[in-house]
Amino acid sequence: MTNEEYLSILNSMKEGFQVVDQDLRYVFLNKSAEEHSRMLPGSLIGRKMTECYPGIEKTKLFELIIDTLERKNHNEFDNEFTYPNGEKGWFRISIQPSDNQIFIISTDITEIIKKNKELEQFAYITSHDLQEPLRTIMSLSQLMSSTYKGRLDEKADKYLRYIDETSQRMSDLIKGLLDYSRIGSERELTNIDCNELLNAISDDLQENIRESKAQIEVGELPEIRGYETELRMLFQNLISNALKFQKKDNKPRVTIDARKEMGGWEFACTDNGIGIAPENRERIFDIFQRLNKKTRYKGTGIGLAHCRKIVDLHGGKIRVESELGQGSTFYVFLPAQQ
Ligand code: ADP
Repeated sequence: MTNEEYLSILNSMKEGFQVVDQDLRYVFLNKSAEEHSRMLPGSLIGRKMTECYPGIEKTKLFELIIDTLERKNHNEFDNEFTYPNGEKGWFRISIQPSDNQIFIISTDITEIIKKNKELEQFAYITSHDLQEPLRTIMSLSQLMSSTYKGRLDEKADKYLRYIDETSQRMSDLIKGLLDYSRIGSERELTNIDCNELLNAISDDLQENIRESKAQIEVGELPEIRGYETELRMLFQNLISNALKFQKKDNKPRVTIDARKEMGGWEFACTDNGIGIAPENRERIFDIFQRLNKKTRYKGTGIGLAHCRKIVDLHGGKIRVESELGQGSTFYVFLPAQQ
């Protein structure tokens, strides 16, 4: 192929493709990269990044670029970018090392992020507004129960009890949805000693642990950077599930471990519970997905959706491995945060 043909291929890519040398000078930008930058065509070539984008030194993008240049690491992350006119754009950035330069590949994810934000807003508003009429139903049914106590027949009492139970369940679902839409809205990156975090969670679950005579083993856990409130919710959900989804009369055994992986830590939460069939191992992370009889195991089916959203916020991954009837292990990979 001729150089022109190579160039034409690079310029027809939807992804932005840039080459930056070790002095941080732009060596090449394809057409999409120029469009993403919103600078005049050709105006970046030969100039330093720091000169073209004053203040870039303080960004995570810059830190990762330096990391790739100096340590030859491959880095990937979602970058929020504010244009000079104040407009925002989101790009999935992949920074790859080469001999004396780096490649930066950028995919425009602005529309996906905007849709997600709209959906979150929608979930927030609807769940918030649904609470109001539901509260009225609940207080009316309670008022009816107390006002007509002993004056109604058995059937009417039973119907009122159903209304109470069902509206309580609806309230739990709506609360779950509201919590889901709020996750991460006040997130704050801090250093977290995971041993302390797990101790605090065990304290919170003390009653549950005592009742089920569960044994919880926590290995040597690292200190990481992350969103503490959210991570607490994540591990609390995993451990509560491990205690809950148990065979009858089985003594729950739960272990939490961590091991260093490329670019971060992988946590594992293992139980000796009922296990999860292979065909369900993806959908359990969706909102309101439950696999078991409502009467046997209580819950709303939103805990693992919370977990996945929290892991996503950290740029990580969550998955489950399981043996039906033997137990499950939930793996959470959390990349090192800057
Ligand atoms: P909930 O616990 O409220 O039912 P979750 O979203 O936390 O909802 O979990 C979704 C479903 O995944 C559960 O209803 C259950 O069927 C399954 N599940 C979750 N954790 C476990 C586990 N440790 N062992 C077996 N099944 C599990």
